[in-house]
Amino acid sequence: MPDSCPISYRIRPMSLEAHLFEVSLWVGRPARDGQVLWLPAWIPGSYMIRDFARNIVTLSARCETDPVAVTKLDKQTWRCTPCSGPLEVDYLVYGWDLSVRAAHLDTTHGYFNGTSVFLAAKGQEHEPCAVDIRPPEGDAYLGWRLATTLPRLAAPELGFGTYRADSYDALIDHPVEMGTFDLVDFEATGVPHRIAITGRHRADSQRLARDLASICTEHVALFGGDLPAQQYLFQVSAVGDGYGGLEHRDSSSLICKRDDLPCPGEGEPGAGYRRFLGLCSHEYFHLWNVKRIVPARFVPYDLTKEVHTQLLWVFEGFTSYYDDLALVRCGCIQPESYLESLAETVTRVMRGTGRLKQSVAESSFDAWSKFYKQDENASNAIVSYYAKGALVALALDLSIRMDTGGARSLDDVMRTLWQRHGARGIGVPEDGVERLVDDVSGLDMKVFFSRYVHGTEDPPLEPLLAEVGVGLRLRAARGPQDFGGLRANGAAESPPRLSLGARYKTVGDFAEITVVPDGSPAQEAGLSAGDRILAVDGLRAGADNLEALVARLPRGETVPAHVFRRDELMIFNLCPDFPPADTCELWLEPHPGAERLARRKAWLHRED
Ligand code: ZN
Repeated sequence: MPDSCPISYRIRPMSLEAHLFEVSLWVGRPARDGQVLWLPAWIPGSYMIRDFARNIVTLSARCETDPVAVTKLDKQTWRCTPCSGPLEVDYLVYGWDLSVRAAHLDTTHGYFNGTSVFLAAKGQEHEPCAVDIRPPEGDAYLGWRLATTLPRLAAPELGFGTYRADSYDALIDHPVEMGTFDLVDFEATGVPHRIAITGRHRADSQRLARDLASICTEHVALFGGDLPAQQYLFQVSAVGDGYGGLEHRDSSSLICKRDDLPCPGEGEPGAGYRRFLGLCSHEYFHLWNVKRIVPARFVPYDLTKEVHTQLLWVFEGFTSYYDDLALVRCGCIQPESYLESLAETVTRVMRGTGRLKQSVAESSFDAWSKFYKQDENASNAIVSYYAKGALVALALDLSIRMDTGGARSLDDVMRTLWQRHGARGIGVPEDGVERLVDDVSGLDMKVFFSRYVHGTEDPPLEPLLAEVGVGLRLRAARGPQDFGGLRANGAAESPPRLSLGARYKTVGDFAEITVVPDGSPAQEAGLSAGDRILAVDGLRAGADNLEALVARLPRGETVPAHVFRRDELMIFNLCPDFPPADTCELWLEPHPGAERLARRKAWLHRED
């Protein structure tokens, strides 16, 4: 594979039916003592060891026409026998992971992240490389195009051909989509943006482009007005059911329900479309916060093993705060809609007693083994650095606004993080954000951080929101689907209902317990995740009637609960009770007074 670059790759969908990419790596000047090759164990942005090398099916090497022996050193590293000329390595990669994190190939499309398909040549990771991306063979695929932000070297726009990257780090930060996706182009702050939608859908893509243009412009303004990218691509995969995103420097990969995309004639975004806009907004905010403003611990990334930082409450939490906030600030959604979404986040945090045991700094550090490996006990043991991190950001923002008389806000903190770290390529030390907040605000926020970031106290949202004319209250859940939201004006109060306090899923006719919260009647009785409920109070209890049956029992009375645990019938003494007040309602105070109203306008950037 002769080329001017010292490293070049060729990748081709070899068998779409067998989900195999054929990849060749050409190393012009292999290491004299034998070239070592490695593949990442994880992909930046998703803090879990995924061992992408397990999908390499076969691998061989040669020098000209002579075979070169290859020895495997560990799960993701190979050493080639020394050779005198250029080294060529051929391998097959299995791609059947329909997520934003790996590779996927079938007769409808191909998608890959470089971390799944491109072996790194050890010691030469800083070298520029060329990538020849070939189309699949066959008339059926003549219409396939290619969407990526990899710079083109010898390829038509949206076409197969040769692309380039300045280094291995750059190479793996531009995922590639190939197939018959739909395209919508738009401009934001003078920079070309593009949406590529893969999968069946009937979305109003012009509406989507308009809304995304507003959101992108809002984020660019927050960070000072200049987009630090020449182009941006939203790579969307629309499926029946799915949700997820992964950020990159100049693009993001997103998976969504096709029903969450806007339908023609859609007015104010419903919950599904709002969720999708929030996801796009989230990944775009990452363009600064984590892709360019980076924890010092990630500079450079060590992709062979876990790398721990306490700062994900900033890089994911602050991003989660600004994702929805930007939607209301740019006018894509109404303040009431924003409060609905915010209330659901508060409820999600309040539902887990893990928040009283783990701080968001600890949750960040242990993301690899805890947040990314959640089991049935997760809500009792850990806190989400996304959800609580967003509430910490909200409390911090409102505190700074209050204590500086509106002169400073979290927006100034983000802008300064960009100027001092992101724009200058300087990683953020573990205590860097806390010091910078004090510096930018002129306040001493030590107590705030020790309570809500390193400690496990709940941020004082009720008094802080009151200062911007927003009411908050916590009440008992009215059913398993009740996550709170906007308080309905003048709605009659429904009385609390007795509950067993466990979360469950429907399996056939059964209610199968999935989560037993600390302190719940279910836990006191001894019920466990995996138990299938058969009867309560001697009566058949299934997924269809469990809630109603429990709600009708007299409070304080203990009744038998029959369950199958594995294949054993067990009887427990259950005493249902009212659920705790962990469901959040928010509302806009209609007459908050001039001062609070002014603060609300400054916070939401809204005149209404
Ligand atoms: Zn994120």
